[in-house]
Amino acid sequence: MVMMDDPFDLLRPTTVTVRVSAKVNLALGVGSLAPDGFHPLATVFEAIGIYDEVTVTRREGSRITLTVSGADADQVPTDETNLAWRAVELVREEFASGWGQRGHGIDIHIDKSIPVAGGMAGGSADAAGALMAAAALCRATDSPEELQPLAAQLGSDVPFCLTGGVALGRGRGDRLAPVICRGRHCWVFATSNQGLSTPAVYRRFDELGGNPGGEAVSNDLISALTRGDLDAVAASLSNDLQAAAIDLRPELEQVLTVGREAGALAAVVSGSGPTCAFLVRDTAGAKKVSAAVSNLPQVHRTRTARGPAVGAQLLPGPVGS
Ligand code: ATP
Repeated sequence: MVMMDDPFDLLRPTTVTVRVSAKVNLALGVGSLAPDGFHPLATVFEAIGIYDEVTVTRREGSRITLTVSGADADQVPTDETNLAWRAVELVREEFASGWGQRGHGIDIHIDKSIPVAGGMAGGSADAAGALMAAAALCRATDSPEELQPLAAQLGSDVPFCLTGGVALGRGRGDRLAPVICRGRHCWVFATSNQGLSTPAVYRRFDELGGNPGGEAVSNDLISALTRGDLDAVAASLSNDLQAAAIDLRPELEQVLTVGREAGALAAVVSGSGPTCAFLVRDTAGAKKVSAAVSNLPQVHRTRTARGPAVGAQLLPGPVGS
């Protein structure tokens, strides 16, 4: 008979699924390149209702495997370079004693809906999901607050992907403060056939002279969000990386123009791009903008989504899992 340290080991769940949302930056203020190689940021994130689902399954042994399904799955790495893999490794190191007798082999599966390399924090969202799922599986914690320090080690956007909602991010975007947001926002996103590398966009931002004013977010935006004034929110959207993304992909300019002409309240490049984000008044407005921009050859797909969405959430598992 095998003696178990933990008599409840066999009762632990073996599979946990976490749903994670994409993000858009309502404002992205970028400062000058610092000696540590990073640009200081002042940004307002909004979580958007486009979701990946990350399932983490525990099994015998010590290997990690990773599979991906869904749109654009073939563009996602399935090795240790995937941020979800790194999140699971971090949880195993941090909570080494929490795995019990049945080993700490882990199968990760990502069901992907968030555009890949689209400036919508897809990899960061998966890291947040894997972090929460693995920590829940070894019964360490499933609290987003407690997981924040580990999330910040994985990437600048990962802490926000855990908490969701609307938040002001400073530092590298990982020092978060919640922002009160009244009302909901209806968005259309136009993805491109080919992603843009975030480091390449930052390099071009520097080459174009950076932003001598330094990183900042306008008080008008925060105030408009707090009042729930949609037109004022639209008037305050901004992105310091937009010029660099358009310099690398001039065809994005036309996507933004066509969306505005079709009635979008505002049109911005999402984060480092190349996804273009259109804030619209309602579902009818979303249909018009979506129809107009989806005719453009440089647009791969359009997606409609609402924000703000919640952060990483444990999904109820099947009975006996
Ligand atoms: P951000 O908005 O945070 O700058 P992004 O949304 O533009 O990121 P990602 O979808 O995170 O970009 O993909 C950027 C690169 O990261 C991809 O080209 C891919 O090689 C790599 N990557 C690592 N893990 C993942 C993941 N889980 N999902 C997607 N891409 C990943």
